[in-house]
Amino acid sequence: MECVKGKSVFKGVALGKIAVLKKNDDVVKRTKIDNPEKEIQRVAQAREQSGEQLGKLYDKAVKEVGEASAAIFEVHQMLLEDDDFNESIEEIIRNQNVNAEYAVAVTGDNFSEMFASMDDEYMKARAADIKDISGRMIRNLTGESGTDLMFDEPVIIVADDLSPSETVQMDKEKILAFVTVHGSTNSHTAILARMMNIPAVIGADIDLNEWKTGMEAVVDGFTGEIYLNPEESVRLEARKKIEEEKEKRTLLLSLKGKENVTLSGKKINLYANIGSVGDMGYVLENDAGGIGLFRSEFLYIGKNELPTEEEQYQAYKHVAQTMAGKKVIIRTLDIGADKQADYLNLGKEDNPALGYRAIRICLMQPEIFKTQLRALYRAAVHGNISIMYPMITSIEEVMKIKEISKEVKAELKEANVPYKDVEEGIMIETPAAVMISDELAELVDFFSIGTNDLTQYTLAIDRQNEKLDPFYNPHHKAVLKMIQMVVDNAHKAGKWAGICGELGADITLTEKFVKMGVDELSVAPSMILKLRKIVREME
Ligand code: PEP
Ligand code: MG
Repeated sequence: MECVKGKSVFKGVALGKIAVLKKNDDVVKRTKIDNPEKEIQRVAQAREQSGEQLGKLYDKAVKEVGEASAAIFEVHQMLLEDDDFNESIEEIIRNQNVNAEYAVAVTGDNFSEMFASMDDEYMKARAADIKDISGRMIRNLTGESGTDLMFDEPVIIVADDLSPSETVQMDKEKILAFVTVHGSTNSHTAILARMMNIPAVIGADIDLNEWKTGMEAVVDGFTGEIYLNPEESVRLEARKKIEEEKEKRTLLLSLKGKENVTLSGKKINLYANIGSVGDMGYVLENDAGGIGLFRSEFLYIGKNELPTEEEQYQAYKHVAQTMAGKKVIIRTLDIGADKQADYLNLGKEDNPALGYRAIRICLMQPEIFKTQLRALYRAAVHGNISIMYPMITSIEEVMKIKEISKEVKAELKEANVPYKDVEEGIMIETPAAVMISDELAELVDFFSIGTNDLTQYTLAIDRQNEKLDPFYNPHHKAVLKMIQMVVDNAHKAGKWAGICGELGADITLTEKFVKMGVDELSVAPSMILKLRKIVREME
């Protein structure tokens, strides 16, 4: 048994097999071989395995996101069977007497470069698909796991680090826990783990060459400990803790359907944060009063091209209809910094958190923004949607947004497309927005305070930098004073103010927030009933 300690970002205990996730871009070694036929046979097996995986992914995607979006896996299956692609692999093995992995990697690189240099935009976009396919085949050849987790049973993910785009692509039903060697407490990957309600430990000093897929482990999200090949007593303890957690959960479930009201009668809205349509199950299971933050950017990342208006419309409509009249606040594209999409070519920046991101991209590339707004106003017909804009720093930005959204609505009207006007608010996540919140409150319908970024910008601490975790203090007086100022300014203008950053789920502050007059807390679905319990027990 080996025990490693890291930093817990979500509590809970898991016991199961590990899947060691290695990045596609790991360098593939070139080795000389004696038996080319054997390598060609291995390629054939990997191709067959890849084809089966893609078939399963296609079926799953059809169910979850519809046929149009699932079609990409059919394209991958076709590329996998492409004669030129396969002949090239065989030729490299035979002519150079090299291993299958190397031949697939070289072929993948050559074909993807060829596609990337084409003039046709559609063909250009296929370059990334070729990389996906060669990456999948190499993983199947080496026996490593990819992000699509083709396991029969749920596993503990062990990785060096996970990007938000990798995390969001994973099948949540197949994950027992996350363990990473790097990562910061406030990264979007940690946020996603909390959203999925699974134990997560970061900063674990693990040698990924020693830990192998299929080994057994216990992850203790209370202590931050991970046990590899746990002995019987550790397993027993883990099983006991898992049972205790289940019992606590059952008690919390008895609060479903109850109001979020204090003993003295003060009410507060408890809404859920989501990253995708797939999170709706957690929202309903935890009886959220609404969606306080739908991070729409997750529809844009982990893909090879922009989501179409129709794709977005279907996603927003689905969430609005599922919530059946309850409030659904959808945040417009907050991409950039740690949330990257290669096809947007955002470019490398020295200070990405202070760079080209969120509303700045939308205002500079209005065609992307307008497509999203059209989808949102159209979907609003099917439920109670509100729109929220991220990373606001000035009155001018709000005025420009209003101009663009007016244009979008005029175009929809002109084209006789059904749409609905909605409540529109902004995120307060920059000190600039806090300081002019009195003026901003006159221009918008509500504020939602993004404490993750507000803390980062106020304390001048990069939320992605794991070394700075000890300095990242979201309880800092400066942050709490800012929250009070924003709430007061909202109320003076007759508007409401909530918190949708991670601080909203901090149970040591719930009572304080209620006293401060915060109208809404939007938190990971798994936190809703815990907060309800606290609210109902306070004076
Ligand atoms: C925040 O900054 O607090 C927030 C809710 O947005 P995100 O974490 O997605 O940046
Ligand atoms: Mg933010």
